[in-house]
Amino acid sequence: MPIAAKLTQSDFSLSLPSSNFYDRMLELTSNKAHDETRQGEAYAPFSEDPNAYQKKFYIESYGCQMNFSDSEIVASILNGNGFGATKNFEEADLVLLNTCSIREKAEQTVRKRLTEFRKIKKKRPGMLVGVLGCMAERLKSKLLEEEKLVDLVVGPDAYRTLPQLVVEAESGQKAVNVLLSREETYADISPVRLDSNGISAFVSIMRGCNNMCSFCVVPFTRGRERSRDAYSIIRECTQLSEEGYKEVTLLGQNVDSYYWLDEQHDELVTFAKLLEKVALISPTLRVRFSTSHPKDITEEVLHTIAKYENICKYIHLPVQSGSTRILQLMNRTYTREWYLAKVNRIREILPGCGLSSDVITGFCTETEEDHKDTLSLMEYCGYDMSYMFFYSERPGTLAARRYADDIPEQVKKKRLQEVVDLQGRLSLESNKKDIGKIFEVLIEGDSRKNKDFWMGRSSQNKVIVFPKEGTGLNKGDYAKVHVTDCTQATLIGKARP
Ligand code: SAM
Ligand code: SF4
Repeated sequence: MPIAAKLTQSDFSLSLPSSNFYDRMLELTSNKAHDETRQGEAYAPFSEDPNAYQKKFYIESYGCQMNFSDSEIVASILNGNGFGATKNFEEADLVLLNTCSIREKAEQTVRKRLTEFRKIKKKRPGMLVGVLGCMAERLKSKLLEEEKLVDLVVGPDAYRTLPQLVVEAESGQKAVNVLLSREETYADISPVRLDSNGISAFVSIMRGCNNMCSFCVVPFTRGRERSRDAYSIIRECTQLSEEGYKEVTLLGQNVDSYYWLDEQHDELVTFAKLLEKVALISPTLRVRFSTSHPKDITEEVLHTIAKYENICKYIHLPVQSGSTRILQLMNRTYTREWYLAKVNRIREILPGCGLSSDVITGFCTETEEDHKDTLSLMEYCGYDMSYMFFYSERPGTLAARRYADDIPEQVKKKRLQEVVDLQGRLSLESNKKDIGKIFEVLIEGDSRKNKDFWMGRSSQNKVIVFPKEGTGLNKGDYAKVHVTDCTQATLIGKARP
């Protein structure tokens, strides 16, 4: 388990009656950009599918929500080419791992899994094993030729060629396509919703990233930023709404730089315009988005969020560090003061808006002073939630080329623990402030720890549980919930008539 997840366990030391840590971790982290509980999840969307497929594929996903969303595109492409899905890799003709390179630990997890599949392959030589996503891009043919761990290597922009690559691999050829594209957005592909709750769906609005944060491998593994046709996004969201979905999350590495011009160049759609178009599909369809880069989120976006009730009042605004010196080394292009001014503006335009962040500890040259700056910034912002990591040097990144990874691991981890402990306190304080308030909650399903309770989220993205009895409510309904109690991870309440 990555250290970020391991350390957040202490985050959950407060106990709810009859709950356990994993239940609460699931409730806290599901529906977030990087969901630790879903790492390595396997899918079988067509388990009830009446079609008889000649071949079966099995897919596991790792990393951020973009990867999980990509697996839905891959499933659609394979399904259209005669492959049915299975949750049991033992009966699969094609085993795929959609991988993440963001931290070394993520790659190690996948390598371990590939070694397990290699052993199974010895017993079933006909089974093909493929690596998709960021590791495919980063390691290219190393996995195929040097390590002989896999039969196929397919980068994030090459999924359309997957059926052809499978044919090549079946005939014993090396099947590799890691070409990055400046155009590919898979706009015309209807993703197959994998193991969805039928209530919330993720919709990819752009791919790649043009920022060059010095610690980050994403610009190298996912290529240049490109925005998807706005009308294909609207169509997908409209269809989801018609199918009964109640929430869409618009996904991209940097959604605020979404920019789409139609072919005649007479319509420009910015992220604010896109948000508005999606919000207008239906007042009962909630709209969320992830991730915002602090330098790109505009006043227009904030005012659009304020204008539409169904655009959720929640912003994930990763800061990474509270020290201006470190932010400069990270090439984040803002200072501590600039970030704080942005947070102030959010609080002015959107009072009560939920706010969360990503934090990295132990980046190159980070001093105790820099670390204290991070702690004080977190305290000032009063984040409701954070994803917290210690720095992991990634080969080829600007930081790996320019700076020594000079902070000892135990110092990185000690600082991470301090950040995690602080976030635990901030989350509890934020939740306590909600006691006595009434929130509109979209019911996502049963509470994982107690089936007599519903679990849903407020607009601010906080998990709220409340007793089902006497409410007459169902999954997918909106409920007004009066908060009566809380833990660090969850608000507890009662539905109002
Ligand atoms: N595009 C988003 C942004 O700019 O905030 C996030 C992208 S990344 C998939 C998610 C998070 O992983 C980052 O915000 C950062 O905190 C963390 N991360 C990225 N590279 C890292 C590294 N080399 N070591 C530790 N954490 C890293
Ligand atoms: Fe990585 Fe920075 Fe792009 Fe986020 S904005 S994906 S951290 S380079």
